[in-house]
Amino acid sequence: MAAILHVSTHPLIRRDLDVMRNENTLTGEFRARALAVTRLLGAEVLADAATASRRIFTPLEEMQSTILWERFNLVSVTRGGNGFLQGMMELLPDAAVGYLNIQRDHATALPAEQGGHKLPNDLGRGRVIVLDPMLATGGSAAMALDFVKAAGAKNITFMSLISAPEGVAKLAADHPDVPVFTAALDRCLDDKKYIRPGIGDFGARWHGTSY
Ligand code: URA
Repeated sequence: MAAILHVSTHPLIRRDLDVMRNENTLTGEFRARALAVTRLLGAEVLADAATASRRIFTPLEEMQSTILWERFNLVSVTRGGNGFLQGMMELLPDAAVGYLNIQRDHATALPAEQGGHKLPNDLGRGRVIVLDPMLATGGSAAMALDFVKAAGAKNITFMSLISAPEGVAKLAADHPDVPVFTAALDRCLDDKKYIRPGIGDFGARWHGTSY
């Protein structure tokens, strides 16, 4: 298991996942629930965000108040990671955003690095949150973490929607320093390396495509 594995138990996340997992859920509803889950899971990811205090004046008196005091970088592992971006950018409107174009080869289930990556400058400053909704074999996730570390990232969090034990074990072995936040830990992978019971192909469902 990862050094730190956080599996959400939030009832609202479970309620939204119930809808997302359902094979009859259409694209619009799927996206709406993905956004809702991202806001909730994102709040859990950010529960230990650094803060600073400052003096402000309410209409009634002066007080010591709190502001967020951390620089954030969001890195989406495309395509699926884009499903987390809107919600995370709402929570962190000033975050720098980057993309890693790593896609699973459907024949081999191995991660295939497609090139054309765009990472924010200076990933060593602030926290890097890597967004990849399906932590299946862990191959793409481990490759994404290799990339951000090679670009200087040190304080990294991995955020997924549904994880398989196999993927969690892979990240624990390859990147034990990276905490994993997930909305659900499912049973296993099937012989095509899909997560069971899972959600199907997240990228296809979120983008409204058949592949
Ligand atoms: N990627 C997906 O979209 N779904 C899975 O079940 C596994 C990987």
